[in-house]
Amino acid sequence: MKICPECSFEIEEQADVCPKCGRFLKSRKPPKYIHKIVYCFLIIAAVFCQIFGIYQIANDDYKYYCEHRSECLKDHDVLSNAAMSEKSENLRNAYFIFAERYEDMIEYDNKEIEKYRISSIISTVLGVTFMLLAVKLITIKK
Ligand SMILES: [Zn+2]
Repeated sequence: MKICPECSFEIEEQADVCPKCGRFLKSRKPPKYIHKIVYCFLIIAAVFCQIFGIYQIANDDYKYYCEHRSECLKDHDVLSNAAMSEKSENLRNAYFIFAERYEDMIEYDNKEIEKYRISSIISTVLGVTFMLLAVKLITIKK
C-alpha cells in the first residue's frame, strides 16, 4: 500500500490514479518513441533550414539583383563622371537626373539583396540551433 500525497488516502501499489481525489500517482514520462519523433523532427527541420538558407543566396532573383546592382553602379559612375566634365549646365543637369535614377535603382537592389541575406542568415542560425538541440537530445539519451 502507498499513500496519496494529495489526500493521504491509502491506495494499492499498482494504482495509477488515486480513487479518492483523482491525482496521478506515477510520474508520467513521455514514451521513448516521442523522443525519437522529436529528434527526427529536429533533424528534418535543421536540414530544411540549411537548404532554405543556401537557396536564399543561390536563387536566380538574388543573382539578378546582385548583377543589376553592379551594372547600375558602373552606369552611375559613367553618368557622374560625364556630368562632372560637362560644361553645358543643361546637359550636366540631365546627366545628374539620370544618375539619380540609377541611385534609386541601386537602393532598391540593395533592399532586395538585404532581404535575401537576412532570411538566409536567420534560417542558417535556426538550422544550427535545431541541429544543436538534436545533438543535445541524443547525448541526454545516452
Ligand atoms: Zn488522493
